[in-house]
Amino acid sequence: MNNIFYASKPDFKDGISVEIKGQEATHISKVLRHKVGDTILVADGEGSRFDVVIREMSKQSVVGNIQKKREEPAPAARKILALGLLKKRDRLEFAVEKAVELGASEICLFNSDHSERNNSKEERLKTIILSAFKQSGRFWLPKLVLLDSLDQVFSSYANSGFVMAHEQIEISNQPKELIGSQTVLMVGPEGGFSKREVELNKEKGGEFISLGKNRLRAETAVVAFLSQYLFSN
Ligand code: SAM
Repeated sequence: MNNIFYASKPDFKDGISVEIKGQEATHISKVLRHKVGDTILVADGEGSRFDVVIREMSKQSVVGNIQKKREEPAPAARKILALGLLKKRDRLEFAVEKAVELGASEICLFNSDHSERNNSKEERLKTIILSAFKQSGRFWLPKLVLLDSLDQVFSSYANSGFVMAHEQIEISNQPKELIGSQTVLMVGPEGGFSKREVELNKEKGGEFISLGKNRLRAETAVVAFLSQYLFSN
């Protein structure tokens, strides 16, 4: 698949032209050495992708004329991954990258009761999300949301269905269909969910599911959980 570049909606002018800026522009001009007249693919992260013919180029800006537009409707059933912050930065970044590839509509990282100090930087996580969005050829760019607790997850996504993956649940409780238009899929940190968080999910009417009899690492659980819904759009 051709390289896909990203420009946010405000950078598109009247459906006629688009300006790609910053690192994306440098990648086009300096790394991939595109020339004026070349056609490139540009996504706006909000369901549209355009064939664009490059008109002007500099190190920090590429301007092109829009030739063709393709659109993909927003998913009917949104999947919000809510993951307790992991201590290990590389494992958290792996989980975030896989969540994009596996179709998470939004990625919410929260400070779980058992989360330990984490030094992941928001900007770096956003870069990982953008890179996975382009690499996987998605049309909708997942948003990154950072919250201070599981309580905030329930309040921030008040009108959603909630499903908590828990390793002590009977394996007969397997993942079912997504709930309505938005489901929050919850995975705990390395130390798992606290008793308080489990009780909170019960109180809020959330469901519990098993991901099998083996105890999975959190990042593996993210992959296993989201893989259940690969075809539920
Ligand atoms: N606290 C657990 C322990 O120490 O035994 C391990 C937690 S596990 C590393 C991190 C998260 O992955 C859990 O909170 C849960 O959300 C999910 N998880 C891991 N294995 C699972 C399984 N077999 N079924 C459902 N969820 C699982």
